[in-house]
Amino acid sequence: MAERVLGGELIGRQDAQRLIEVTGDDLPDLFYWANKIRIGFKGRKIRFCAIVAAKVGGCSEDCKFCAQSSHYQTAVEGQSKLTDQQILDSAEHAGLVGADSFGIVNSGRGPTRQELETWIGPLLQKIAKQGKTRACATLGALTPETASFLYESGVRRVNHNLETSERFYPEIVSTHPYSERLNTLKTAKQAGLSLCSGGIFGMGESWQDRLDMVFTLRDLGVDVMPINFLNAIAGTPLSGQEKLAPMECLKIISVCRFIFPGVELKVAGGREVCLRDLQSWIFFAGADSTMIGNYLTTYGRTPELDHQMVRDLGLSWDVYEDGPVAPSSEHPKISRVSHTGKFNIPIVYESEVAVDESVLPTHA
Ligand code: SF4
Repeated sequence: MAERVLGGELIGRQDAQRLIEVTGDDLPDLFYWANKIRIGFKGRKIRFCAIVAAKVGGCSEDCKFCAQSSHYQTAVEGQSKLTDQQILDSAEHAGLVGADSFGIVNSGRGPTRQELETWIGPLLQKIAKQGKTRACATLGALTPETASFLYESGVRRVNHNLETSERFYPEIVSTHPYSERLNTLKTAKQAGLSLCSGGIFGMGESWQDRLDMVFTLRDLGVDVMPINFLNAIAGTPLSGQEKLAPMECLKIISVCRFIFPGVELKVAGGREVCLRDLQSWIFFAGADSTMIGNYLTTYGRTPELDHQMVRDLGLSWDVYEDGPVAPSSEHPKISRVSHTGKFNIPIVYESEVAVDESVLPTHA
């Protein structure tokens, strides 16, 4: 089957069904072939991207995995925003640590025109003009007008995840329909934007749900597929959900690579907590991309550790249009700034402040 994929054939549902039946001692064989497909389609360079939580919390929606929903009592209290300077600093440092894309992420169902015109749009324009990293946006549902506005602001890619299959979706979200997510992706594509869309694995969905989502994403023509593994957040309805086992995470990556040979497969949230010591296997299981730095409401690890991991594997990373990357010794140390309230969200890379490892959470 891998040879057929390497020859340019797109596999169908029956073939995918055979892949998910691979278990136990045969799993490394699945990884082996997914790795061959990665090299065949994506080469030996991987990609990093980074995000910043510009507006956090206070969200009207009820996504059961999310710390930012106002429906649940989590460590995120109310809504807070970063300053423009904090966001621009994050973008600059994301470029310096090798992120070829940088996403501004806002909580909420979708952006208002005023928010775009007076806040997010000008920031995205500045980041796009600096040219150190690709300006991306995760702002929720888009209309033809807001999608075109983003394009005119210099944005070339938006992220909007399907999260799961259409069948399983009502178990996870009730305040906005699956069709809204599909429409946002179609609308963004019509506006000329590249699509980054994936989902969260480990929310209680079946393998059939996983395949449904991946085939839907393939039909939509997404360019980047983020693969998140649920890192259950205290206070959300999914807080008791067991973590996926590392080998299951790797199998998900491999199956996605077989189905989606040419897409940028990006391992994002949950990498550290679900894969633990096996996180370096993601590339040899078929991924060609990962997120660097911190997530929206949880910590990642330092960029230096990810750089070392990639080098140790004999791989290297692509930078945005040959943008400048500081030598490793000059990489800024990771620090963090607070949104208001007790919730401490890690976002900004500050060059002068050394990281205090003692405050890093255990992810327990
Ligand atoms: S995932 Fe987005 S839309 Fe859903 S609750 Fe969280 S911030 Fe709101």
